[in-house]
Amino acid sequence: SVLVRFAPSPTGALHLGGLRTALYNYLFAKKLGGKWILRIEDTDAGRAVPGAVDGIRSALEWAGLEYDYGPGIEGPHAPYFQSERLDLYHKYAHRLLDSGHAYRCFCSPDRLATTREQLARSGSNATYDKACLNLTDEEVARRVRAGEKFIVRLNDGNLPDRSNPKDLVFGALRDAHASLPTDPVLLKSDKFPTYHLASVVDDHEMGISHVLRGEEWLASLPLHLDLYASLGLKPPRFAHLPLLLNPDGTKMSKRKGDVQVMDYQRKGWEPEAVLNWLALAGWGQSHIKTLQEDASSPSSSCSEGEDHHHHHGHQHVYKTAPDSTTVMTLPELIREFDISSLTHRRTVLDPAKLEYLNKHHLKRKMDESPESKKVLAERAHPIVKAAFPSSPYTSAGYVGDVIKLLEGRLVTVTDIANAAPYFFVDPDYNSDEATKMYEKINKKTYATVLQRLEALFPEILPSWDATDISVFLQREVDALGLKQKEYMTILRHVFTGMKAGPGMADTLQLLGKDRTFERITNAQK
Ligand code: GLU
Repeated sequence: SVLVRFAPSPTGALHLGGLRTALYNYLFAKKLGGKWILRIEDTDAGRAVPGAVDGIRSALEWAGLEYDYGPGIEGPHAPYFQSERLDLYHKYAHRLLDSGHAYRCFCSPDRLATTREQLARSGSNATYDKACLNLTDEEVARRVRAGEKFIVRLNDGNLPDRSNPKDLVFGALRDAHASLPTDPVLLKSDKFPTYHLASVVDDHEMGISHVLRGEEWLASLPLHLDLYASLGLKPPRFAHLPLLLNPDGTKMSKRKGDVQVMDYQRKGWEPEAVLNWLALAGWGQSHIKTLQEDASSPSSSCSEGEDHHHHHGHQHVYKTAPDSTTVMTLPELIREFDISSLTHRRTVLDPAKLEYLNKHHLKRKMDESPESKKVLAERAHPIVKAAFPSSPYTSAGYVGDVIKLLEGRLVTVTDIANAAPYFFVDPDYNSDEATKMYEKINKKTYATVLQRLEALFPEILPSWDATDISVFLQREVDALGLKQKEYMTILRHVFTGMKAGPGMADTLQLLGKDRTFERITNAQK
C-alpha cells in the first residue's frame, strides 16, 4: 500500500517549493488511497531554527493539507522527529560496520581538507584517500577506547551492484555515481547521522513506498540506493520534483518576491488558489504548452464552473489534461493527479496565473455554498479589521456580503481595502480621486440631486431593497432629465468618493438606509 512522507528540515519558514513537495505527496497518497507522514528532519542541530516546526505545521494547516501521521498525530511509525530516533541510526550504522560496508574514520578535519585538495590537484575525482579503511580491528578498538573522535563512512569499494537508478519523473539516470563523494559520511563525529543515513533508515523503518522530494536531492539518489543495497534492503520508488523558477528563468528567492508560504497567507491569497497554481505548474507540461500557444492570456484560456476538460466557446477542445490555469479544487486535483505525467522540466511559477486562479477561487467560494462563503468571510474578516481598525462595520457576515458584491473586482480579499473602503468607513471626499470627480460635476445639479434624494428616499423605500432602489434611481434620472452617466457620477461621489464600483442600487442596499442618509447629509456640508 502507498505510504509517503514529507520530510522538511526545521531550518526556517516553509517555502513554496516545500509546499509543492507536501502537496504532491498529499495528492499522490490520496489518489492511490494511501497515507502520508510529516517527518521532521532535525538532525542538524546547528541549522535548526526555533519555532520552525510550528511554522511548517501552521503553513500546512492553512493550505488544508492534513497529514495522516506526524507531530501531534501519533501512529505506528512514531516518533516523527529524527532527533528522537538516534538509536535507530546507530543500530543501522553498526550493522554496516559489522558487515564491512562501513568503517570508522579517525582523520582530523585538517587532514581531510588537505587530502581533498591534493586529490583535486592531481586530477582525481576522489574526495578521500581511504586512509582509515585499512586500519586493523585492534587499532580501531584501541582508538575508540582511547576516546578518539571518529566518523563512520560507507565503504564504496564494497558495494553489491551499482546499476543506473531510475526515477519516476526524471527517468533513468546516467553516470549517476560519478559525482558522489568518496566513501560518504553516514555518522558524524557527534554521533548524529547525516541526512543520507537518517533518511534511508527512516524511509525503510516507516515502510515508505514512494519518496517524492525536491530535485535538489536527485544527486543523492545513487548514494541512497547504495545504502539500501549495503543493508540488503529493498528501496522505495523515487520521484524527484523539478526546481521552481521565476518567469524570467531565475531561481525563486526572497529577493525576487514572495517565497514563504506565510507571505501568501498574510497577503490574503486563497490557499486553494496557491495549491492549484503549484500543482498545475508542474504537470502535463506538453499540454500546457500547446494550450498557451492557442490562448493568448491566462484569463482567456478558461473560466470557472466549466468542466475543465472542455473549454466551450473557443479553439481548444482537444485537451486531455488540465492546463496551468484550470481552476481546480483540492478534490479535483486529487482526481486528476497522475505522477506519470509530471514533467522533469524546470517549473515556472507565473504570478499572473496565481492572480487569475485566485480571482476565480474567490468567486467559486462565494457561489459554491453558504458554508464556503462563510469560511471565506471568516478568513477575510481579520484582514478587513486590520485595514479598518476603528470601523464598526466589519462583522464576518457583512464582509462576506461585501466580497460577494465586489466579485470579479478583487484579486485577493485584501484588495477590499483599496477597491471599496467606503463599505467600512466614510467616503474620503478629500482624496485626489474624489476631488477630481467633484471638479467636473455641475454644482447646482449636485445640490438638486441631493435634495431630492433626501426628500424622496424615505417615502418610497421602506423595503430598502436593491430592485426598488434601482427603479427609484431610474425614475430620478428621468425626472431630472439628466444623462444616466452624469447622475451616477454624482451618486458615486456622494456615496463612495470613487469613480468605479459595483452597481449603485446594490451598493446602497448593502450600506443600509442609515449610512445612505448620513452620506447625503455629509455631502451637502
Ligand atoms: N530534509 C530534506 C529537506 O529538507 C528532505 C529530503 C527528502 O525528502 O528526502 O529538504
